[in-house]
Amino acid sequence: MTTLANSFQRDSSSTAVIVPSKPAALTISYQQLSAEVSSFQKKLAALGIAPESAVSIALPNSYEFIVAFLAASWQRGIAAPLNPAYKQSEFEFYIDDLSSAVALVPKGAFKEDAAAVRAARKYKAAIAECYWNGKEVVLDVKDKGKLAGKENRTVEQAQPDDVALVLHTSGTTGRPKAVPLTHRNLSRTMKNIQATYDLSSSDRTLLVMPLFHVHGLLAGFLAPLASGGSVIVPPRFSASDFWANFTTHKANWYTAVPTIHQILLKSPKPDPKPEIRFIRSCSSPLSPKTFHELEETFDAPVLEAYAMTEAAHQMTSNPLPPRKRQPGSVGIGQGVEVKILDQDGKEVPQGGEAEICIRGENVTKGYLNNPEANKSSFTKDGFFRTGDQGKMDEEGYVFITGRIKELINKGGEKISPIEIDNVLAQHPSVSEAVSFAIEDEMYGQDVGAAIVLKDDAKDKLSADELREWLKERVAKFKLPKKIFFTDTMPKTATGKIQRRMVAEAMLKQEK
Ligand code: ATP
Ligand code: MG
Repeated sequence: MTTLANSFQRDSSSTAVIVPSKPAALTISYQQLSAEVSSFQKKLAALGIAPESAVSIALPNSYEFIVAFLAASWQRGIAAPLNPAYKQSEFEFYIDDLSSAVALVPKGAFKEDAAAVRAARKYKAAIAECYWNGKEVVLDVKDKGKLAGKENRTVEQAQPDDVALVLHTSGTTGRPKAVPLTHRNLSRTMKNIQATYDLSSSDRTLLVMPLFHVHGLLAGFLAPLASGGSVIVPPRFSASDFWANFTTHKANWYTAVPTIHQILLKSPKPDPKPEIRFIRSCSSPLSPKTFHELEETFDAPVLEAYAMTEAAHQMTSNPLPPRKRQPGSVGIGQGVEVKILDQDGKEVPQGGEAEICIRGENVTKGYLNNPEANKSSFTKDGFFRTGDQGKMDEEGYVFITGRIKELINKGGEKISPIEIDNVLAQHPSVSEAVSFAIEDEMYGQDVGAAIVLKDDAKDKLSADELREWLKERVAKFKLPKKIFFTDTMPKTATGKIQRRMVAEAMLKQEK
C-alpha cells in the first residue's frame, strides 16, 4: 500500500467526493472516481505525458483538480499543483523550475489568455483546459507545445519510490525550494494522519484549505480518502457557506489554518450546533486564546498539529481525547521521530531549546537541484533540520518557539519573536501583533513590532503606553525599539505571516 493508486478502496460504492454545487451537489463514489482517473490517465498519455513529466495543475479546488492530480501521479507523472491566483511571473517561475510538460487551466482560460496560459506558452508547455462537463472530466488540449509529435504513449503504473508530487516551500525564509515527494512519502503521512485522528469510513470532512499546499492535499483530502471517508470540496473557503455545507453534507471534522478558525469565530454560528468530532489546526501558531474560544464555541476538541512541505505535511499533533492536548503545544510525533538537536546534531538536555529535527518515511529525500540546501538540511544521522526552534516536555509534547532564521539577534542575545507576539496579543486593545528584527547600529538587530488595534481601540493607544505595559511582562532587552501601528497585517496567500514581509511593509509605511 505504498502508492497512491492502491491506497484507496477503488471498488467501493461509498461516497468519496461531494462537490456542493447548484442545483444539485455532485456526488462521486470511489468506483466512479477510480474509473474517471483511469480514463483521464489515458487522456494524459495520449497527449504525450511521459513518466517523470511534471503536470502543472493551475486549477481551483474542484473535482477536475482531484482527477487530474490522481491521474498524473498514478501514472508515474509528477503532479505540480499551483495556486490559480498566481500572476504571470509566478507561474513562469514554477513552470520553468520543473520544465512542466503541460499546464492544466480552467475552462475559458485559453481564450482569455490567462496568466497561466501566457506563462506556459513562454516555456512551450502544452496547454489544456480541464473541466467537468456533467458527464466526465474533459481534457481539452489547446496547444501541444513541446509534446507535439510525442502523442499516444502508454500508461505506466507508478512505483513506491517514484515522485508523485512536487510543491515549493512557501518562501517564508527565502526563495521557494522545490520539494519532491514520493508515493512512499505521501502514503506514510496518510497513514500517520489516519492513525492520529482515528479516521474511518464513517468520517466526513469539509475541505477548506487549498489543494495546492500539503495542508489541504494531505490532511484535508488524501488521508480522509485513504480512510474510506468522504470529502466535501467547495471551490474555496467561504465563511457564509461554511456551516451550510458542513451540516447539509454531514461533515464531522475539518482542518484549517488559525486565520480561518478566527474568521469562523467572528461569523454567525451554526444553529443547531453540529456534532463535531474534532477540529484540527495547523500551519501557523494557534494562540491558546483562540484554542479555548474554539473549544467552547463549537464543543469539540481542538487538535493543533505541526507540518511542513518537506515532511509531506504532518510531523506532530496533539492526540484525540482521552489523551492530553496542550494549548500552545503542537503535540507529539506521530509515526515521525522528533528530536531537539543543537548545531552539531547533538541532542540537547531535556527541556532545552534548539532546532526541531525529524526523521521518518514521510520526509523528502532532498530538494530538487539544490545540493547546498540538501547538505545543510540533514544531519549525519538522517534527521531533517526543520529550521524551527523549539523544545520538548518530558512527555514528548513539542513547543515551537520561533524560526532559527527569524530569531532576533540583538547583539548576540537571541530573542524569539513568537514570545513577543504572544505577550503583545494579551493586551486588551491589541487585535494582532507581529514582531521582527530591525537593523540597529548598536546591536546589529533590535526588536520591531507591527500592531493592529481592535476596532474600538483605534488611535487610543500610543507606542509609549504599550511599551510601559510590556515592561511589566518581558525583560527590558526584549522591548520593541520601534512599534508600528497598521490597519491590516500583511499576509501571504495562505494566510501566513512572513515576518520579513511585515518588516518591509512597516519600514516603507514609516518613510
Ligand atoms: P520556507 O521553507 O520557504 O521558508 P515555509 O517553511 O513557510 O517556507 P511551509 O512548508 O508551508 O513553508 O511551512 C512549514 C512551516 O510552517 C514550519 O516549518 C513552521 O515554521 C510553520 N508551522 C507549521 N505548523 C505550525 C504550527 N502549528 N505552529 C507554528 N508554526 C507552524
Ligand atoms: Mg520551511
